[in-house]
Amino acid sequence: MDLFEHQARELFARHSVPVPRGEVAVSPGQARRAAAAIGGPVVVKAQVKTGGRGKAGGVKPATTADDAEQLADDILGMDIKGHTVHKVLVTEASEIAEEYYVSFLLDRAERTFLAMASVEGGMEIEEVAATKPGALAKIPVDPRTGVGHAEAAEIVAAARFPAEIAAQAADVLVRLWAVFATEDATLVEVNPLARTRDGRIVALDGKITLDDNATFRHPGHAELADPAAGDPLERQAREKGLNYVKLDGDIGVIGNGAGLVMSTLDVVAAAAAEAGAIGPADFLDIGGGASAEVMAAGLGVILGDPDVRSVFVNVFGGITACDAVASGIVRALEILGGEAAKPLVVRLDGNNVAEGRRILAAAAHPLITVVGTMDNAAREAAKLAAVPAAANAEV
Ligand code: GDP
Ligand code: MN
Repeated sequence: MDLFEHQARELFARHSVPVPRGEVAVSPGQARRAAAAIGGPVVVKAQVKTGGRGKAGGVKPATTADDAEQLADDILGMDIKGHTVHKVLVTEASEIAEEYYVSFLLDRAERTFLAMASVEGGMEIEEVAATKPGALAKIPVDPRTGVGHAEAAEIVAAARFPAEIAAQAADVLVRLWAVFATEDATLVEVNPLARTRDGRIVALDGKITLDDNATFRHPGHAELADPAAGDPLERQAREKGLNYVKLDGDIGVIGNGAGLVMSTLDVVAAAAAEAGAIGPADFLDIGGGASAEVMAAGLGVILGDPDVRSVFVNVFGGITACDAVASGIVRALEILGGEAAKPLVVRLDGNNVAEGRRILAAAAHPLITVVGTMDNAAREAAKLAAVPAAANAEV
């Protein structure tokens, strides 16, 4: 999960990383009051989860509260690289002497944490890396030791930060590492890390990506999530506690267990190519306890996806036996009623499969086709997805 700048600042402040005073505003009037409370020059900054806001006109200095109000009025509602601005951050303006760059990140390719630092801050780091590769220091960080004062001093020296502020910059790096490690981030980036005219080191911008896999050990992180962001179907599924990923095909895929679902995706992709369908429309793992409610929730999400033309339910009965799953499917279709209007191909195997198939046969639901093997079921689902909509309606 990527954070907004104002959220990154909050985490910085929590770990004693110096940030200028500031307040979030959602209206020009609020921005005016924030600027008045700060007193003196401020900077009005668009809060969008994309870089290069400055270049796009989303970061503007204001000398008075009236200016701040006017600028907020200009910036709110602006479109920056496809992101609409709903909030601005009004911060105390800093007098910048120099701009540096620092970051900690998870380098997946090198399988290590990495510190990056440069005295060429302010501009986009990709540009620094491309035009002045020597100006970007990259130092691997050992997760067992992390970044203490010795490691921070090494990073600062490698980036050739000026001697006068080296100790201060190193101190900020130690705190930024604390943000990275204790908040379970995969990226903490400060650009610019500014040296002010009065000799302080301040984080003037902040970008943090949190590791979603660690959310369970940070109850506080849930409130950082942006409810308006992401795919609406994925959000709906998340709220229902489902393991769901939206894909771009036309065949809904439901299975129990990630391994089974992944192999189902492969089989469906192959069958789709053969039948002239597109491919899997999603990944949905209903997990071990495939109750009727979970099945209904899963089917509800998948059938609500306008891209889905047919659904393949592929379940291997284990602790939750096939009869329970079959009852779950029948019950789910009852719960969904008229919402369920797309053909379902069901393949059941494993624990108590005979009883499961008997339940589906007895239900004789017009939308359900039971197929014995995974390959044939995938072919059937692909065939149903490939036929024109009008023909499907008559099935
Ligand atoms: P970004 O463009 O999305 O990276 O947004 P930043 O927060 O980094 O702001 C862009 C640029 O605006 C910075 O590199 C600074 O040069 C400038 N800037 C931001 N805040 C201040 C400030 O308080 N004072 C001054 N003088 N410039 C600032
Ligand atoms: Mn920046």
